[in-house]
Amino acid sequence: MINTLEAEIDKLKKEIEQESSDISNLHSLESFRIKYLGEKSFLIREQNNLKILSKDERPVYGKLLNDLKNFIQSIYDKKKLFIEERELEDKLSEQKFDITLPGAPHEAGHEHPLSIVTNEIVEIFNGMGFTVVQGPEVETEFYNFTALNTPFDHPARDEQDTFYTNIAPHVLLRSHTSTIQIRAMEKMKPPLRVLAHGRVYRNEEINARKMPFFHQLEILAVEKDLTFGNMKWVLNEFLKNFFGKEIKTRFRPDFFPFTEPSAELDAQCPFCGGAGCGTCGNKGWLELLGCGMVDPNVLKAVDINPDEWIGFAAGLGLERFTMLKYKIPDIRYFFTGDLRFLKQF
Ligand SMILES: [Zn+2]
Repeated sequence: MINTLEAEIDKLKKEIEQESSDISNLHSLESFRIKYLGEKSFLIREQNNLKILSKDERPVYGKLLNDLKNFIQSIYDKKKLFIEERELEDKLSEQKFDITLPGAPHEAGHEHPLSIVTNEIVEIFNGMGFTVVQGPEVETEFYNFTALNTPFDHPARDEQDTFYTNIAPHVLLRSHTSTIQIRAMEKMKPPLRVLAHGRVYRNEEINARKMPFFHQLEILAVEKDLTFGNMKWVLNEFLKNFFGKEIKTRFRPDFFPFTEPSAELDAQCPFCGGAGCGTCGNKGWLELLGCGMVDPNVLKAVDINPDEWIGFAAGLGLERFTMLKYKIPDIRYFFTGDLRFLKQF
């Protein structure tokens, strides 16, 4: 009996090997499975017959049939894997590429309008000998107020106007870039011409004209024999370059703790020539920047002898200049990250 079964299995194995070499798709593989592993297959039929065998015969026959099952199963698994991989390859190679088609466009970013205007202004002042210096946004009360001759009872020192931090007492977010002037004068010996720009913080309500943070740009010159006239020339020259034409200006007396005398510079509206328009609020004039001769107390605070050296300084709001240049009506546009706005520059 056992020899008969062994012979039958050997014969079947040869037949299976022969037949499996012809399997070329999942359909013929399934026919193969039904034929050799299905309910009506030789294997299942013989396995069902095991129970009528004697206790001695059963394990011997069982092992033979089990080997056969493993043999068929392993052929089936290998074929299945092979066919599936080949079908995937076929699918991929069917996807044809047209190399003449244009690629998917990648949008290139560009400078923020504030950066464009900042760089423009920096370049103009560079041309007049001012070099860029930098300073931290988190500052001490000394650099932000005291060294800038701001009295201890000045309202700007109040927490309602200035953001104090909880890092340590007297540590705050700078409320102007004048702090950088102090740091520059501490490090550099006069004569010097420096320019500082960056973000500043003030406790303001948010509206179309104000934000709790904005950007300033300041210039400082400390030299011998500087006059208010020198400063006027530098500022007029700057405005002429920035607006691309000669601009009429006027200096109105003002007060800043760190300059004496101090002035506010107005320019005749470059958009209407003084006739009045929406940009200048029909006044014909634009308030553009604050300036003045550096207060001797400020020079003393950084160990520069005010009898020997004279300084002038001017500061402007970069949002203001950018809004003027591009006729932007609302300061909030700068900081919303709205691409519809940013793409216009
Ligand atoms: Zn105007």
